[in-house]
Amino acid sequence: MSEFKDKIPAAGGKIEFLYHPEHGLSTQISGFGFMAMYLVAVSMDGTRLLGTVPVAGIGQTVVYPQPSVVTYIQSDEQGMWGRNCPACEKYFRTNHVMEVTCCPYCAAWAPSLAFISKDQRTYITAYYDAFARAYIGKTNTSLDVSAITDEKAAWHYSEEKQQFHFTCDIKDCNTKTDILGERGYCPRCGRTNARKLFTETIDKMLSQWQEAKNNISDRNERRSVWEDLTVKSLSEFEALAKHLRRKLLLFPMTSKRRKQLEGLNFQKPLIANASLEEWFDISVREWAGNGISPKRLVSETELPFIKIMIQKRHILIHNGGIVDQQYLDLSGDSSVRLDERISVRSNEAKRFIENVRVMAANLLGQCGIWIRGKVTMISEDALCYNRGTLVEFKLNLGGGAKTCRGLVLNTAVLFGRGARQLWILDMDDATPAQKDQWTNKKHIVHEEDIICELPSVVIGAETLLRDNPISYPVQDGKKGMRDTPAITLTVAVPSP
Ligand SMILES: [Zn+2]
Ligand SMILES: [Zn+2]
Repeated sequence: MSEFKDKIPAAGGKIEFLYHPEHGLSTQISGFGFMAMYLVAVSMDGTRLLGTVPVAGIGQTVVYPQPSVVTYIQSDEQGMWGRNCPACEKYFRTNHVMEVTCCPYCAAWAPSLAFISKDQRTYITAYYDAFARAYIGKTNTSLDVSAITDEKAAWHYSEEKQQFHFTCDIKDCNTKTDILGERGYCPRCGRTNARKLFTETIDKMLSQWQEAKNNISDRNERRSVWEDLTVKSLSEFEALAKHLRRKLLLFPMTSKRRKQLEGLNFQKPLIANASLEEWFDISVREWAGNGISPKRLVSETELPFIKIMIQKRHILIHNGGIVDQQYLDLSGDSSVRLDERISVRSNEAKRFIENVRVMAANLLGQCGIWIRGKVTMISEDALCYNRGTLVEFKLNLGGGAKTCRGLVLNTAVLFGRGARQLWILDMDDATPAQKDQWTNKKHIVHEEDIICELPSVVIGAETLLRDNPISYPVQDGKKGMRDTPAITLTVAVPSP
């Protein structure tokens, strides 16, 4: 874990705000060297982030919302930026910072603005401060990035080095990401890197098997290889399944079901399979095929064998391979007696690994396809254009859906999907109790529950928007509701 603690020094540079009595303020950036940067437009009054502006080289022309203060976010020396997921709050680094981002850990999608790391927020604040001092004081100011030290913590902005680096191998994506742990979803296209990792690991196991078969003659030594491969292959499956479960957990579900899903034991894939089939129509045993790849199945005749191997693996890990009563009860293995040492034959190890590979491929195939159809991309523009609009929407209550009207406050994430935070103004056919409970309150609804935009102007909208500044509300079944302010700045200047 020591690598995780290492700080990657941000490349140096200098940002100057130059005041000219006739032309106003101009920004000058120098000395950044090879690394990349992107821009975040902050509203003139410093209260909200308006949008991200594509990564650009020095001297290139970029288009961004006007008027705004544009802050230059430099990458670390590897060309990546730190990110904090707005849903799970975990940290990662990537070179994908535009449009929407998929969290490599929890697979939730949100606008890239919502992923701006804590360090970057601090940096943006310092940047805006320097701008505001120049703007108000009508003077030149500068931000010396290369002279940043720990003593000036507010200006310090180097990002933490993460544990595992991967490049997405999907054509035309190639996004680079650093995460803690090995398995992650690509921040740009949302595909998992776990398929590649799993295939490589299983291939390695099978060549290890072949090598042992050809070259090792000592009986005990051979036996320990077969046992080792049996144990490890299922461990790989378990790690993969836990990673794919992150996507399943994005579905709305009751807390009871969530607990059951979180408690699912993938060391016993056939038992877990029964629940996955019942809850999600996902089968570890079977995959229907998709026109490109044919149907795949772990046949009925393999099931007793898999069951015995899973129990063998269990006592290899927990009982030194000695048969206990539980083994006899659960495995259905009639070839051994109590207190005997089990053995794994070479062909059994291979057959088991191959079954594990099919089960993993089935799981990957179904989660992959199924999720791609489900992802709702959130338009980042909606953050600035849709705020303050009056909309009609459906509110799903226990007794049925109610039609309501409300003011859009923010773009939000609700159970991993695109949503809007609304201020509910009124509700059709509401009982006094419902009116009390729902109106004049903030609430998050999925995008598809918004029926239409209404052209009327809401009286008092200005006050409502001022009282509810731009933020990133996220609601999931795990942590409940979180609402992170877009950015907090210490200096406010009048809009021009
Ligand atoms: Zn996350
Ligand atoms: Zn990708």
